[in-house]
Amino acid sequence: MTVTPPTSVVGTAGHVDHGKSTLVKALTGIDPDRLREEKEREMTIDLGFAWLTLPSGRRVSMIDVPGHERFIRNMLAGVGGFDAALLVIAADEGPMPQTREHLAILDLLEIRQGIVAITKRDLVEPDWLELVMNETIELLQGTTLEGAPLIPVSAITGEGLAELIQTLDTLLATLPPHPADGKPRLAVDRVFTIAGFGTVVTGTLRDGPLSVGQEIEILPAGKRGRIRGLQRHREKVEHASPGARTAVNISGIAVEEISRGDVLTIPGWLTPTQRIDARIRLLADAPAILEQDDEVMLFIGTSETLAQLTLLDAEKLTPGDTGWVQLRLRKPVVAVRGDRFILRRPSPSATLGGGVVVDAHPPRHRRFHLATIATLELLARGEPVELVRHALAEEPRDVATLTRQLTLHEHHVADALEALQAQGEIIALVSPTPHTPTLYLQREALEAWRSRLVALLADYHQQYPLRRGMPKEAARS
Ligand code: GDP
Repeated sequence: MTVTPPTSVVGTAGHVDHGKSTLVKALTGIDPDRLREEKEREMTIDLGFAWLTLPSGRRVSMIDVPGHERFIRNMLAGVGGFDAALLVIAADEGPMPQTREHLAILDLLEIRQGIVAITKRDLVEPDWLELVMNETIELLQGTTLEGAPLIPVSAITGEGLAELIQTLDTLLATLPPHPADGKPRLAVDRVFTIAGFGTVVTGTLRDGPLSVGQEIEILPAGKRGRIRGLQRHREKVEHASPGARTAVNISGIAVEEISRGDVLTIPGWLTPTQRIDARIRLLADAPAILEQDDEVMLFIGTSETLAQLTLLDAEKLTPGDTGWVQLRLRKPVVAVRGDRFILRRPSPSATLGGGVVVDAHPPRHRRFHLATIATLELLARGEPVELVRHALAEEPRDVATLTRQLTLHEHHVADALEALQAQGEIIALVSPTPHTPTLYLQREALEAWRSRLVALLADYHQQYPLRRGMPKEAARS
């Protein structure tokens, strides 16, 4: 058996012209600027991709994002899959507007691992470098990247590159392995055709594996197809595990039927949504306040859509505030509880804040309704046991229904049911017929029913002492 090496996804962030693409090329030997226009203008417009193997053997997919503010949408389509960020700041210029904006986005998406490369080391004197490094340390304070290592590098002289690679290797080794026992999801960032092969989509694979031959579904359209081939870093593979860039060659779906923003997954478990409950946070320097029914741009996975806000627990949200909201989406997207997203002002466009999906299929809510907020808080804690307990308090359900409604992995539901059964909180009602699933219900609910039935029977016997018992139908009614 071949042991597949661990994989990670590392992406760049930072202001235009600070040396992101040059650094990626210096680290990987691959020029991430693949568009002709990018080469002519010497500017990254769309996402670029490269890869390398670290000294430990770990494989890294690198995503190079555009730094220019006009292409922030492309940056947002790439940043979702990062395990770690490589924040690039040029030593001669120091932090600039898109350094701050990209850092804010990494922070809102809770990307907790990162390294700061202080590029163009060859252009500055040591005391200037020290100034820029101090300014950078200050900039990181209070963000998810606070305390991240700073490494001065030069793509021209090669200084610092070996240290950067070693630091990256050490950092990635501390990350837990990607969960691989869930259902695979791949947010599509590119779609193209290869002559003789047909449709190919690429993206970062997460949560579960894909295999050649497997049936897949493209959402939100719901188109079904089959995997003809898989590639990792230009190598053909039979199976792809989560945590790396993956190219999927699909049969049965035409290239025109797929676009960036779609999600590739296995059929039958995800339903697109146009309503999302979320916890959001406005940036401390957000250039606007948010009020009821305001329109925002939602960026989730690789998709984007206009959305209208229902503020559930506040009259308005001012910079720095957090709040519970319901987002009403202009077009359907695929979202799962726990997914993170960014909100921007549509025009003039600017990052306002971001948040986390707490319920991807909520009912409509009234504003300022305490029970709604309590439920959202419960969902946000996201412990399977709590979620299953909450769902069974509403009504008896089976495993498939719980898995679907709570968007949990099936084994989490099974573990939660086992724990709740062991604690005596719930009871399994095994169906006497083979095709109906086992139902789970709260013991309290069952006991309430049982004592009502016993009381009913006692009454009956007192009323009709000469009869042998209550007819089944009467008891059931
Ligand atoms: P990006 O927009 O952040 O991807 O920046 P690029 O990688 O396109 O680099 C912008 C410019 O800076 C290019 O002209 C590079 O040649 C130059 N550059 C990048 N890294 C270095 C470096 O370490 N030293 C010097 N002197 N120039 C660099």
